[in-house]
Amino acid sequence: MPALTLERLEKRYPGHTAASSVSLSVKDGEFISLLGPSGCGKTTVLRMVAGLIQPMSGRILIDTRDVTNLPTNKRKIGLVFQSYALFPHMSVFDNVAFGLRRQGIEGDELKKRVSEALTSVRLTSYGDRLPRQLSGGQQQRVAVARSIAPRPSILLFDEPLSNLDASLRDEMQIELKRLQREVGITTLFVTHDQGEAMSMSDRVCVLAHGVVQQFATPEEIYHRPATGFVAGFIGRPNRLSGRLVHRAGQACHVQIKEGPLLAVGSTAGLADGAPVDVVVRQEDLRFVHAQDVGRPAVDGRISLRSFVGSRVQYVVALGSVEVIVEAPTNGPDAGLEVGAPVRIAIDPEHVYVNAERTAEGA
Ligand code: ATP
Repeated sequence: MPALTLERLEKRYPGHTAASSVSLSVKDGEFISLLGPSGCGKTTVLRMVAGLIQPMSGRILIDTRDVTNLPTNKRKIGLVFQSYALFPHMSVFDNVAFGLRRQGIEGDELKKRVSEALTSVRLTSYGDRLPRQLSGGQQQRVAVARSIAPRPSILLFDEPLSNLDASLRDEMQIELKRLQREVGITTLFVTHDQGEAMSMSDRVCVLAHGVVQQFATPEEIYHRPATGFVAGFIGRPNRLSGRLVHRAGQACHVQIKEGPLLAVGSTAGLADGAPVDVVVRQEDLRFVHAQDVGRPAVDGRISLRSFVGSRVQYVVALGSVEVIVEAPTNGPDAGLEVGAPVRIAIDPEHVYVNAERTAEGA
């Protein structure tokens, strides 16, 4: 039984579509991320689920109950925002107790439920503190405890970690994922950070221009992007353009504009000569070694080298176009010099080809 169903949700603003026929079916206990660039509509979708924005058409079902026309407080949802939105004058205990008291829970039961919620976010002994006496990460954990205490059917997170610094963010990603597994609440999580979405989620819904591009596991999204938009958004893409060279009985290629001829695996049903956008991820390109003999490869020259910690990034000129190629810092290609001629292996299966985008859209 799906815990959350979105059926063809629509939301338009004057001259702008924020959500277009958005449909999703989320299983009980799943952790789902809504992922996409700024303005793609992810907050709009989350707010429609929360009852903070009314869709123009479509339906929202939580545990098979149609909640489309119910107010937020009747939907059995827990909300966590980017700004922690804690009551500054209330103790941590009272912040967490807030929703429970509104449900009429008092006395020992209230203490037990608050204590359980604080324990699950590892803040058992912090009940007497005021929010200003806590770090940003701790405040966000209180916000999470407050949202889970009333035992909602669904937890909704709107970019909850974007105010935290990088290391705390990594820590909180693990904390939140662990907590969600322990508590088992179906979760919808909005983020523009692909690493965050992929590492935390059972499935990821990629949105662009208000349209669902792909709703699949992180592995599928990464290895089998459904659209050119997904291929170009996930991973670290090199974007090129060219024309398809597709002759009967021959392997398919793309002639990159002012660049090399690349062998490609799938051609998205496009005909010979079609103008195409091509995505090749930085991490899918490798410098050729003896064992790569016979694999498709192109010649280039290193034009820039950057050390970025665990890897070295090279800008490599292939004719008049440039691509970025990565090499592990501890590998044999970490010390290549600017100006050096190189050969780059490009697996045809990792060359993503799509019809050239002529207008706004994916
Ligand atoms: P971000 O990551 O920047 O928050 P988002 O993907 O969450 O972006 P939304 O906030 O859902 O995007 O907005 C989707 C589109 O709808 C945007 O182009 C935005 O400008 C537009 N939009 C949102 N709210 C309104 C509004 N009240 N009036 C007009 N346009 C709006």
